[in-house]
Amino acid sequence: MRAALFVEKNADLSLEDVSPIDPGPRDVVVKVHASGVCHSDLAVIQRMPGGNPMILGHEGCGEVAWTGSEVSRVRPGQRVIIALTPVCNQCWYCLRQETHLCELWPTVLGTKRVRRADGSTANAMSGVGSFADEMIVHEASCIPVDTDLPSDQLALIGCGFTTGFGAALNTAQVTPGATVAVIGCGGVGTSVIQGARVAGASRIIAIDPLASKREAALGFGATDTVDPTDGDPIEQVKALTGGRGADFAFEVVGAEALQVQALEMTRRGGTTTLVGVAGGAATMPLPAMRMVMEDRTVKGSYYGSARVTRDFARFIELIEAGRVDLGGMVTKHFALDQVNEAITAMRDGEVVRGVLAL
Ligand SMILES: [Zn+2]
Ligand SMILES: [Zn+2]
Repeated sequence: MRAALFVEKNADLSLEDVSPIDPGPRDVVVKVHASGVCHSDLAVIQRMPGGNPMILGHEGCGEVAWTGSEVSRVRPGQRVIIALTPVCNQCWYCLRQETHLCELWPTVLGTKRVRRADGSTANAMSGVGSFADEMIVHEASCIPVDTDLPSDQLALIGCGFTTGFGAALNTAQVTPGATVAVIGCGGVGTSVIQGARVAGASRIIAIDPLASKREAALGFGATDTVDPTDGDPIEQVKALTGGRGADFAFEVVGAEALQVQALEMTRRGGTTTLVGVAGGAATMPLPAMRMVMEDRTVKGSYYGSARVTRDFARFIELIEAGRVDLGGMVTKHFALDQVNEAITAMRDGEVVRGVLAL
């Protein structure tokens, strides 16, 4: 099989022919149809030390090609989206319906999936590894879907769409009539915007320094845009929300300064939700007295607090009904061997979402 591996920090991914390590009885081999390219892939390249080769890509869908002897969740020929975190249905969190926190995750992260030509082995990012023509995954990561939607749209449900849309609907629980501010309007940010629109927000303010991203955000449901280079973005949001700030603000970049901005553009009594993943050493200073006296809530949102076995099906129904636009988020297609170009296009802000189509 062919795969794109992270080998060295800040270097291009290495495109290699690799051999699958024998899958286990609960493993599934999936022929990849499409894989989104996500900022978390870039974060691995920029932040992780080299030395532990890993197949990148964690936003994939495809068709089941083979199942181990104990697999019961899927069968060959089924279309599946591979979930960013598995759902084992047996652990403490899964039994409490908090499946995005499933305890099986470290196991799937650590499983070696392929052998390289030099004999070394590699695991798969998030237990997915979708920058490849095949994925070898635990059955707990496989969510079967029954739809005719194109694969490039389904792939986005695996990470970015669910992360953003779920943050609005599941984590923050945006209410009808609410005002919403979103910092960062890439694939995840536009998904937050769509979630806020579906939830019935009255005003959705899209904040991004790139004019192309602000323009695109209007097409996904934003009612106003703010250019943060055009004056203090906190004051600009307050000017659009009666001087108070938004009921809900989302930070979708993962930068401390922007997290503080998100807090300060949220009104008293409002909810600030952190969606972007900051570096491991980053901290966010909270004004402790005002947190109490102004009745503020700050939430972290991992994977849109999604219960994927429920949410993937309802997201697909919303897309099929035309209530959510995933096709418009797929800005450009790339071949697997063009994966480094796709990552560059994302880093440079040229795409809402680039997708590897196989
Ligand atoms: Zn992602
Ligand atoms: Zn679990």
